[in-house]
Amino acid sequence: MNNLGTDVIVVGAGPTGLMLANELALAGVDVVVLERLTGRTGLSKALNLQPRTAEMLELRGLLDGAEERSFATVQDGHFAMIPVDYHGWDTRFPFQLGIPQAEVEAFLEERLAAQGTKVLRGAEVIDFVQDKDSATVRYRTDSGETRLSAKYLVGCDGARSVVRKGLDGDFPGVDGEGFGVVADVLFDKAPDGAQKQWRTMRNIGEPTGATTFKGLIPLGEPGLYRFIYGDRASRPADMRPTVTIDEVRQALLESYGDSAIVSEIRWVSRFSDAARQAAHYRDGRVLLAGDAAHIHFPAGGQGLNLGVQDAMNLGWKLAATVRGQAGDELLDTYEAERHPVGAQVLHNVAAQLGLTPRSHESRALRDLFADLTALPEVNRYLSGMVSGLGIRYPTYGTSHPALGSRLSDQDIATDAGPLRPSTLFHTGGFVLLTTTSAHIDTARTWSPHLTTQLVTALPWPATEAVLYRPDGYACWVAPTPPR
Ligand SMILES: Cc1cc2nc3c(=O)[nH]c(=O)nc-3n(C[C@H](O)[C@H](O)[C@H](O)COP(=O)(O)OP(=O)(O)OC[C@H]3O[C@@H](n4cnc5c(N)ncnc54)[C@H](O)[C@@H]3O)c2cc1C
Repeated sequence: MNNLGTDVIVVGAGPTGLMLANELALAGVDVVVLERLTGRTGLSKALNLQPRTAEMLELRGLLDGAEERSFATVQDGHFAMIPVDYHGWDTRFPFQLGIPQAEVEAFLEERLAAQGTKVLRGAEVIDFVQDKDSATVRYRTDSGETRLSAKYLVGCDGARSVVRKGLDGDFPGVDGEGFGVVADVLFDKAPDGAQKQWRTMRNIGEPTGATTFKGLIPLGEPGLYRFIYGDRASRPADMRPTVTIDEVRQALLESYGDSAIVSEIRWVSRFSDAARQAAHYRDGRVLLAGDAAHIHFPAGGQGLNLGVQDAMNLGWKLAATVRGQAGDELLDTYEAERHPVGAQVLHNVAAQLGLTPRSHESRALRDLFADLTALPEVNRYLSGMVSGLGIRYPTYGTSHPALGSRLSDQDIATDAGPLRPSTLFHTGGFVLLTTTSAHIDTARTWSPHLTTQLVTALPWPATEAVLYRPDGYACWVAPTPPR
């Protein structure tokens, strides 16, 4: 701690803010999470954890909590509603975990509380100022306005981020022209042909016209479905999130006829296909992560996953900076690494929208694209993109197949028997896997927060050691390859 109120203020207790706060708390950093809402909404919103997010949760021993609350294991992903298979990737999790966003938030908040950090609810950030040493937010609660200062402030406050707007930076992109609606619908009699369990993306969603689409995802509870519909080329004059129950009933009728019997519509929300990305993720002592930094149409199920992965990238860097173990230029690598990843997601979402069968020609293009998707290399490329498994961070000066790539978490051989490497990451530090103890001292000079493991072999030829960052990406190898 310091003479400020705290080390880091995180604004927003969505999945991004909660993941980041967990990472900071794990590293012993004092963190305050300010959340406008007085309680969790319980809204399902996002429904999936992609393979790379599952791997990251596993690095912190958090995946069990997600699995306990999940309602489905989905064997594939999709690109423009065309299924893509994850099995071409070297991962223990070649599937999506079906889990409502509310449940992800619940277990992350519980884990945060177990680390001694509570979310300050009913605290709405109004604005902030920063100078060279600190950032100070002004927030309001029922008892009035309060100011709180910290070394760093991170805006995880979603698409309409007050923090982003306060930075006055550019948020370039497009407003889009279409819309979508999601509704959680309980049926007494589900539409004919609707799957009862969510096991695959096949036939879950489909184009219904030149620009319109529909989909039904079973949510685990008997008769409960996520109904999705929309139009990629036009939108209602009133784009507020509120949608009338009559509008949803009418859309159900048009999509599935009158054979379905609706019992209850539990939650409805409208969203747009606007796509924007903050030009910068850092300005001095203020950073952005998750939807505060990027918004896009929820095609492919990527937004929550992108935010959680932003948090994993930023968490250890911010912790090392706050603890004085790294200069604050380390924080610039957050933008350098995560901005291109966010840009690629916006790009692939635009490509998915581009595969809308608007005309005879674009229908042919979509059919051809679906055929290409069946080719293993194409499938691997697309599935790597939507799952996050394909992310590789640039490294400088040397080339080695491990550098910049993720830990795939297959068992490694040690004298004591096979070891699951992810277990070494639970404390949130760097991890050195090495065949010789000679490299341990070298790695210690870079980070005191280091776990070392002697192994009998590494999966790359002529490689004696691999150092992994806390977020599971290889950042150093020995012997160091030539430049
Ligand atoms: C209909 C729909 C379906 C989706 N489906 C998927 C999917 O299947 N898969 C997927 O990966 N993604 C999906 N997404 C995207 C996903 O929901 C978002 O990307 C995710 O919520 C982003 O998390 P976040 O924590 O960055 O922001 P949010 O979840 O928006 O959280 C921001 C938090 O900040 C709080 N806040 C805002 N302003 C303030 C303030 N001034 N002061 C204090 N607190 C504040 C908010 O109350 C909120 O709790 C979907 C989105 C929509 C709309």
